[in-house]
Amino acid sequence: MNGNDWMEQVHWPQPVLAAIRELERRGHACWAVGGCVRDAALSAQPHDWDLTTAALPEEISAAFAGYSQNLAGVRHGTVGVLLDGQMLEITTYRVDGAYSDARHPDGVSFTRSLREDLARRDFTINAMAMHPEKGLFDPFGGLSDLREGLLRAVGEPDKRMQEDALRILRGLRFISRLGFRAEPRTETAFRENRALLGHISAERIAAELTGMLVGEHVYEVLLSYPDVIGTVLPEVQPAAGFDQHTPYHLYDVWGHTALAVQSVEPEPLLRWVMLLHDIGKPGRFTMDAQGVGHFKGHAILSAEMAENILRRLKFPRRFIEEAVPLIRWHDVNIPAEEKPLRRWMAKLGEEQLLRLWQIKRADNLAQNRAKSDRTGEIDTLEAMTRKLIGEQPCLRVKDLAVSGSDLINLGMQPGPQIGQTLERLLQAVIDGDVRNERGELLGCLMKNE
Ligand code: ATP
Ligand code: MG
Repeated sequence: MNGNDWMEQVHWPQPVLAAIRELERRGHACWAVGGCVRDAALSAQPHDWDLTTAALPEEISAAFAGYSQNLAGVRHGTVGVLLDGQMLEITTYRVDGAYSDARHPDGVSFTRSLREDLARRDFTINAMAMHPEKGLFDPFGGLSDLREGLLRAVGEPDKRMQEDALRILRGLRFISRLGFRAEPRTETAFRENRALLGHISAERIAAELTGMLVGEHVYEVLLSYPDVIGTVLPEVQPAAGFDQHTPYHLYDVWGHTALAVQSVEPEPLLRWVMLLHDIGKPGRFTMDAQGVGHFKGHAILSAEMAENILRRLKFPRRFIEEAVPLIRWHDVNIPAEEKPLRRWMAKLGEEQLLRLWQIKRADNLAQNRAKSDRTGEIDTLEAMTRKLIGEQPCLRVKDLAVSGSDLINLGMQPGPQIGQTLERLLQAVIDGDVRNERGELLGCLMKNE
């Protein structure tokens, strides 16, 4: 689109228009700002709308006295207002005070100048404001950077990354999401200030890395910024440039990793698993007499390292419990036969086994497929898995058609042998030696005694 034609196409949600009108009726200027302007200029529907206004927090609050409000951010000038079921964040024009901890301003003060408010924002593409009648306000050239695919810090890049190092990771996330390049001085500032990422909390690092990993252009970001990523995840540093010395790989460990991440669905769990699946390879490298590299046991080490990383980044327990086994078993060979498939399904769970096929497919896509293309085999395994799941297999003791009390009724003594017997029956059912049917199971017990 040329010029500002896109502004005509912006779909302004009713509550946003209502909020702007109400504040302006009271004499306060109000604009949409930040991510929603960027997304609208990219012709994407914004996922949330932030408003910025000359009104002070108490004036915002008074203007929407009849509505439910969230005042948690009021010290920083933000009032959340629930309008028509939509939570709008309305923030007073603000300038940030000095930064002494590479993350938070020591204080904020309010200003009557929209330009000053935009100047504190991180990147030019995030430092534009728009208004339903007044159009675009873009004092830092955000729109032209957006059209050129350039991520440029507002003001002096070095100073802006030193104020708040989180901006470095936000930057990588935007590059990954939008497919942009960093403007050269901004890129240098990302790299040179990366040590300041030590000031950023684990939770924020995790959230930004996840945002980066699910981006459409994650491959380029991983290849371009192993130094920055290696600052928050030091465990990946040995992988960058690590030659695998094997015909099965065209890429070094990091190049393979980047391609594997890009090759899996953009879901946080799957992307993290691909990022970490080979992280143990450099630690398990050996070379045979023919000069061919081997990585025996690397999946075990990768899984251990991944568990440490994900714990350190404070991922939810469930996420870790799902990610670690997928990394542990990413390399295992499972024959396309019902018995082993049922065993693995019992071991990992149905959903996890389906994920394992996605992992294996992405891993294979990122290898030298002229040497080994396993896509067809993985397709078969997945189809067989889905068929087995459709048959509602018995995979757990509680799925058995007999229970502990049945065994006691048969005269067995209560105690650990009850559980052991049920486990034995379960194994027999999983292996297809006996059907999960009450009469058959009891018959099988009699026979064994
Ligand atoms: P997203 O689509 O991820 O929500 P966003 O740009 O809206 O992207 P938010 O975290 O919602 O990101 O922040 C809203 C706006 O606040 C940004 O567009 C930017 O102008 C400003 N901003 C957010 N975080 C920072 C920061 N750390 N430093 C400077 N400005 C920031
Ligand atoms: Mg946002």
